[in-house]
Amino acid sequence: MGKIFIPDAQTFPSQAEVIIIGGGVLGVATAFYASKAGLDTVVLEMRDSLASLTTTASEECFRAQFSEPENVAMMKASIAVFENFADVIGIPGYNIGLHQQGYLFFTADPDGPERLRAQVAHQRSIGLDDVEFWTGDEVRHHFPWASPRVTAATWRAKDGWLSAHELTYGFAKGSDARFLLRTKVTNIVVDKQGVAGVETNRGTIATRTVVIAAGPFSGKVAQLAGAELPLTILRRQKFILAPHPDIPQDAPMTIDLGSGAYWRPEVGGAALGWADALPEQPAEPLERVPTDWTFPALVLEEVMKLAPFWEKVAASLKREDVFLSAGQYTITPDHKPILGPYPDVPGLFLNVGYSGHGVMASPEGSRYVVAMITGETRPEDNPFCFERFARGEVVVSTEKLVI
Ligand SMILES: Cc1cc2nc3c(=O)[nH]c(=O)nc-3n(C[C@H](O)[C@H](O)[C@H](O)COP(=O)(O)OP(=O)(O)OC[C@H]3O[C@@H](n4cnc5c(N)ncnc54)[C@H](O)[C@@H]3O)c2cc1C
Repeated sequence: MGKIFIPDAQTFPSQAEVIIIGGGVLGVATAFYASKAGLDTVVLEMRDSLASLTTTASEECFRAQFSEPENVAMMKASIAVFENFADVIGIPGYNIGLHQQGYLFFTADPDGPERLRAQVAHQRSIGLDDVEFWTGDEVRHHFPWASPRVTAATWRAKDGWLSAHELTYGFAKGSDARFLLRTKVTNIVVDKQGVAGVETNRGTIATRTVVIAAGPFSGKVAQLAGAELPLTILRRQKFILAPHPDIPQDAPMTIDLGSGAYWRPEVGGAALGWADALPEQPAEPLERVPTDWTFPALVLEEVMKLAPFWEKVAASLKREDVFLSAGQYTITPDHKPILGPYPDVPGLFLNVGYSGHGVMASPEGSRYVVAMITGETRPEDNPFCFERFARGEVVVSTEKLVI
């Protein structure tokens, strides 16, 4: 059983086989797999609790509907972990609030049917055999609230959402790692062999293996070891609406492909967001991310275009029905994470840059990083390696970053 505590002079460790910097979902999942591989593992988290920065800001959704084989494989493996989570962590009955109500990407574009049919054929060819193409009429048959303007959609029934908080704490409880709170890493010590330890506000811990999983702070933390990472930090907002009788609770995660605006049910109400609602500039990592009260109105106006029931909901909303929050995406040029060793500093590993998909990919991405630490997976077989940037293999993504 993992131990979560604020260390004192007696309990502060002097050494560890693996130190993970960051106690969000990715650091904690990494600790689970590292400790299960038999490694003495310590997580250092500067805040008062685990999962309290980006992970708590998340929309908590997961999908396997991606267009690149490595992403599809990573999400399918992660969803398999979600589906069997209590068994995976060895805690019978542990509940992560799994809702497999599907992901619906729909569009009103006239060329939607042609485009989405081709996309589904491509996804099926790369191993996503349960994704479906739907015509506009099929969408309205399944979800009568969909607008007559909808021309086509893609659908996968096993996509959905969960509780990122329970997921993180489940990985922590099921691990054999130690989780040190209010412990901030201030330096990564490097000697001729590579990583030699970390310095914190409470003292120094010797180690030959460090994993950076510091969310939006990962670039800053990497600089402590002299490493430069290609990460861009952007604010993302979301809001939760209080229960309302007109919000269909059997709806899927629903995304307008034209705008990228999305919503899904949430305990009688809904969770909504839209990356492009407001222009966002690259920013410094923040612990308190400001919100903007124009955001909910912009999103509601957008989602009502293809799901007109939102007009009625919006008309009856009061200020106290809207719970607005914000976090930051940590984005790489190709919107794929950077996993595994940092080549110039032996012993330095990365689990960063998920570009808005870090909750859904946390099991497999973290397992994969640990497999490279133990040598089970060769770094050269790793499609998410840091070197892809140096080798110029990266195709800069121009796709909208949808959830
Ligand atoms: C609005 C929004 C919606 C999102 N929706 C989804 C979604 O639906 N599905 C999905 O998969 N993803 C989603 N994401 C992305 C997802 O939330 C992130 O990819 C994921 O939470 C990243 O986890 P993390 O552990 O890397 O980061 P974090 O949760 O930010 O954890 C990093 C931790 O590192 C700690 N730290 C930093 N520096 C130090 C230091 N020097 N010393 C010690 N500790 C340090 C921080 O305090 C923090 O707790 C969303 C993000 C946002 C903002």
